[in-house]
Amino acid sequence: MIPPRLHATLDAVSVAALIAGPSLLGWPRRAVRPLALAGLGVAAYSLATRYRRGSSGALTLAEHRVLDAAQGIAVAGTALSEPDRVIRQAMMGYAAFSFAAALLTSPEGPKGVPLPRAAWAPATRRGDVWELAPDLAYLRLGIVNVAFIGTSDDWVLVDAGLPGTAGAILSAARRRFGNVPPRAILMTHGHFDHVGALRTLADHWQVPVFAHPQERPFLDGTRSYPPAAPEVGGGMMATTSPVFPRSPVDVSDHLHDLPVHGSIPHLDGWSWIHTPGHAPGHVSLWHEGRRVLLSGDAIVTTRQESACGAAMQMPELHGPPAYFTSDWQAAAASVRRLRDLDPALIVAGHGHAVAGPHMTAALDLLAHRFRELGLPATSRYLTGRGGA
Ligand SMILES: [Zn+2]
Ligand SMILES: [Zn+2]
Repeated sequence: MIPPRLHATLDAVSVAALIAGPSLLGWPRRAVRPLALAGLGVAAYSLATRYRRGSSGALTLAEHRVLDAAQGIAVAGTALSEPDRVIRQAMMGYAAFSFAAALLTSPEGPKGVPLPRAAWAPATRRGDVWELAPDLAYLRLGIVNVAFIGTSDDWVLVDAGLPGTAGAILSAARRRFGNVPPRAILMTHGHFDHVGALRTLADHWQVPVFAHPQERPFLDGTRSYPPAAPEVGGGMMATTSPVFPRSPVDVSDHLHDLPVHGSIPHLDGWSWIHTPGHAPGHVSLWHEGRRVLLSGDAIVTTRQESACGAAMQMPELHGPPAYFTSDWQAAAASVRRLRDLDPALIVAGHGHAVAGPHMTAALDLLAHRFRELGLPATSRYLTGRGGA
């Protein structure tokens, strides 16, 4: 991925190369003139581009990228009638470079709030399972987490990971609870990276699946999620999000609504909180006595829009993964609601668990300045529920 700042540098280098290069190389006028003109064109539309949020200019980065591609086509067209093989190849090379720059540049995603390593919650690591307390642990499955709450007397699984992770979840559960099945599977929401192993696990254990009633259509096969919003930028996860599955799973034979009064079946001291925005029926789980928050995707602790962020999990506090968030007003309200709980520990759907004063300060900042730190610069869903 090419960040906007690097793209701006490449544009400046291109302008210099297009204007000065051909004459320095002693190319004939028929090649020098169109390339110099192309250079002036790039200079003009680059000067008018808003590479960064808040900078001035008439063109968005998306429009700039269309012009890059158009310019590549024009140079390739000129190259076709160029008799000199070396010049033709150089022109074709430049055209390919323009296409690549147009294709691979991604706008800045939501800024988020960086966290120091010290914000990682103290945890005992066993394989990919991070134990935060005797009755609380999470299992990292590549880019997404599932959580285990409870002890072998009574435990529940929170979320069900990516497709193909049933084996990993089952063996982690077996190490933790022996052969005791969970009482239930609780779903924060039904996105594909949280329901991947749901069918297999619910069948295997024969346990109820609890979710918010507004998430039901995505779990009983009725409705697909709205299309992803790759324009939010931030990296490869966002760019490739249109190919992520968004059709519903069907676990209707196991599915139950969460109890209306906010309690969680089989878990004393825990409650669920409706935190919509990322998904209509998104819920977070909360333990008031211990101030522990399982935030699902309402707040995540890594830059999930970037494949690098998702894989490396550098600690950062973010609102929901932007490419799959369909109601930003609700998402902002949910972040504020979770901040108001004043959690001491956050276990999110993506990223490491975080705790302590750095986390508290970052959460405060994210909630206070959500418009600047939590929102993407553009999204088809920015102005409210599904609207453009
Ligand atoms: Zn999600
Ligand atoms: Zn997620």
